[in-house]
Amino acid sequence: MASNMYALKCPCCGRSAIEDYYYKTDEKYTFCLRCGYYYTKTIESYKANDVEYKEEKNDGHGVFILTDKNGSRKKMMLNGRLSDAQIEEYKASFMDGIVDQKKSYLVSYENGVFKILLGNPPENFYLSFDEYREKMFSKYGVPEYDFMVPIEE
Ligand SMILES: [Zn+2]
Repeated sequence: MASNMYALKCPCCGRSAIEDYYYKTDEKYTFCLRCGYYYTKTIESYKANDVEYKEEKNDGHGVFILTDKNGSRKKMMLNGRLSDAQIEEYKASFMDGIVDQKKSYLVSYENGVFKILLGNPPENFYLSFDEYREKMFSKYGVPEYDFMVPIEE
């Protein structure tokens, strides 16, 4: 299916989120690997001359990115406030010998505040969307359509 994927400003945290837009069907998947926000708009049903969409949205509460030494990654977007038990559980998986701790991190996001609980997020993590866009444009050049900001973790 034809889709465009690009970075855009996260409506939740203001940093760089990712949008996958299917321009033929007007379906949309937006997700933020900074704060955990996501929004999806997908076709629910077709009626005579009309299409009915279903929307789902979740404000970000943080992300847990776990990379193992073979390079495979798990990206979890937290859809609620982290409990102490969850933090302990995530800490235990982070400490697992197979995990590449340099490429893994746990971040919570509550009331507009990021808190790094484990590991180190990549440099781009900290940039506002405007700073991120500027960096991408100077690195890759300005794209033909300027909304098509490159995606980089
Ligand atoms: Zn966000």
